[in-house]
Amino acid sequence: MLTLNQLLTEHFRCPDPGVDFVGPAAGESRTGYFLFGENVVCYGRTNAPRVARTVDEPLDDTFANTQFEPGRCLLSFDAVDAVENLRHERYVSNGKSHINGGRLHGLSRGLYYRVRPLLPISIRKHFQRWVLAPRMKTQFPSWPVDRTADRLLENLLAVWIRAQGQQQIPFIWFWPDGHSSAAIVTHDVETQAGVRFCSSLMNLDEAFRIPSSFQIVPECRYSAPESLLDEFRQRGFEINVHDLNHDGRLYWEHQEFLHRVKRINAYGREFQAKGFRSGALYRNLDWYGALDFSYDMSVPNVAHLDPQGGGCCTVMPFFVGNILELPVTTIQDYPLFHILGEYSIDLWKHQIQLIQEGHGLISIIAHPDYLQESRAQETYSELLGHLARLRSDTDLWIALPSEVNDWWRVRNRLELVHENGRWQIDGPGKERARIAYAHLAEDGVYFQLPKNEDLVERSTETASSTFL
Ligand SMILES: [Zn+2]
Repeated sequence: MLTLNQLLTEHFRCPDPGVDFVGPAAGESRTGYFLFGENVVCYGRTNAPRVARTVDEPLDDTFANTQFEPGRCLLSFDAVDAVENLRHERYVSNGKSHINGGRLHGLSRGLYYRVRPLLPISIRKHFQRWVLAPRMKTQFPSWPVDRTADRLLENLLAVWIRAQGQQQIPFIWFWPDGHSSAAIVTHDVETQAGVRFCSSLMNLDEAFRIPSSFQIVPECRYSAPESLLDEFRQRGFEINVHDLNHDGRLYWEHQEFLHRVKRINAYGREFQAKGFRSGALYRNLDWYGALDFSYDMSVPNVAHLDPQGGGCCTVMPFFVGNILELPVTTIQDYPLFHILGEYSIDLWKHQIQLIQEGHGLISIIAHPDYLQESRAQETYSELLGHLARLRSDTDLWIALPSEVNDWWRVRNRLELVHENGRWQIDGPGKERARIAYAHLAEDGVYFQLPKNEDLVERSTETASSTFL
């Protein structure tokens, strides 16, 4: 189990100031919901006088309960537990990992997945709207983007800065080359019709110079021809594994999961894929140790429109053991078009803006299966145009998922060292890293990335990853 000092230095790559956090003793605390700063909902162990049993009750803010002593900071809650309970979605089912389908669970879910392939979208979407309607009324996690886990870490960093009697702390900026935020575009190939459309979709992405990944279902649904896999590789696109057979049952039962994962890992080696995404974003992060992949892309930020509710409440990559999670932070094309019935990019733009405000990772899922209709294709093209504009206007880094994974791992090994009276970054890959500062603010911290005078102003061409 990580300490809070380790958790903060891992996330921010800042120096450990030698101030230790102390949480409540196990016997003195209760488990429930509370706040740590305005609207920063936590679930976990606390010795606060009042703890809510459900997130809908009034929640007490424990931020003011923090006490400072020389060399240590006394918190009224177990902060590591609170961060992990958000990222691992344990707040949903009071401490346990869960497979929660809301109105769709147990036998009815099994039945639904048996008949689902027979149902046309025009019928399926009405059923899905009925299943998902109660979720859209849920206040927490907050739709359409939830940054609670990130804001909790920022508030803890603020406490740390204050405990040192400082106003700021240096850290290694989140993205390479000083990019403001990052984006990945991913395509899950669901059916044979999707397979047939992959080349056209590659043309579309290439027209905007957007790199993307294709997730392939290895069994039952279709067989992806070797020529298509070669085409992905030759054109600079990325291949990842998408579930095993996409029957919605990957995480139903542990023994069966372990049995399936062996085959999934073998397909990963066969495809030379470093990334994995489960079917329909079903997940159980407690079982991720069996997955032999470098990164996973199956955890939604806020899962109101996905079969399994919850959400990891972060727009940042985070480690689950050895696997790096690249969370799904925007609405997928299917629910946008068929559940909400919208063919505009307004919601995507709104989500992207909120993610960029937090300097996070924009991750897009669009399916070759659902982009064949002309108005769907036009909407998707508009989204690509928007991303390309942000690349030049806001220095957004649009990269392959594997590039984001590689970078996050490089950054994770870099250290800030104080030499000759100034901070420097040390470690392999430091050339692309930048020093930023987190400053104390009224309500947490704000970030500043000083302009590097030595840097030549980069043109749009060089700012846009190594693709093409
Ligand atoms: Zn899928």
